[in-house]
Amino acid sequence: MAKKQFKSESKRLLDLMVNSIYTHKEIFLREIISNASDAIDKLCYISLTDDKVGLNRDDFKITVTADKENRTITVSDNGIGMTAEELEQNLGVIAKSGSLQFKKDIGDKKEDVDIIGQFGVGFYSAFMVASKVTVVTRAYGQEEANMWVSTGSDGYTITPCEKDSAGTEIIIALKEDEEGESYGEFLEEHELHRIIKKYSDYIRWPIVMDVTKS
Ligand code: ADP
Ligand code: MG
Repeated sequence: MAKKQFKSESKRLLDLMVNSIYTHKEIFLREIISNASDAIDKLCYISLTDDKVGLNRDDFKITVTADKENRTITVSDNGIGMTAEELEQNLGVIAKSGSLQFKKDIGDKKEDVDIIGQFGVGFYSAFMVASKVTVVTRAYGQEEANMWVSTGSDGYTITPCEKDSAGTEIIIALKEDEEGESYGEFLEEHELHRIIKKYSDYIRWPIVMDVTKS
């Protein structure tokens, strides 16, 4: 598929995230984990009345994997997943409350980036730390899976791919460390642990961590 452009509202929010000088960039993990949790809530709810889901309450979980060699953080869930259309709708457009409110409050005042921490700024916050974000997802009840890839505000692609079961994997390729800014810290187990404890302690699904040493 040819590269598609983000809608202008989304592009502006994305630009803001990419160029963020916000000091608490770690909140990206809170946003990605909260989306994973929402997705599990949805499939868990369906599973109450649909035996075909084949998962019990205890089977649902969120996995956070850090790969030091490839400098990636992957957040996987076995939630409801997204169809190609949903990928397009949900990740190509700011449709949701948190991000919209955020955009309104911040307006065009770039210096007010401190506001970021107070809002659920959503999926795009991954671009505060990522040079590339890949979303591999398979919607519950569908055979086909799709991959959404973006390196920032210049657009995204969606291509069919394989995935064994329903759910979503968000693969965050961390930016290279810059002067005064180390993104590599997010690959450290103790650091991930601290961030998850700080912002995601309220999540009611298990968060399993796995750090691959280089
Ligand atoms: P919000 O969570 O406020 O709706 P986000 O920007 O965080 O906004 O996410 C946008 C949308 O993308 C979500 O509403 C959801 O539909 C979809 N989404 C994001 N992550 C996932 C995921 N892990 N599984 C399924 N859908 C997801
Ligand atoms: Mg969200």
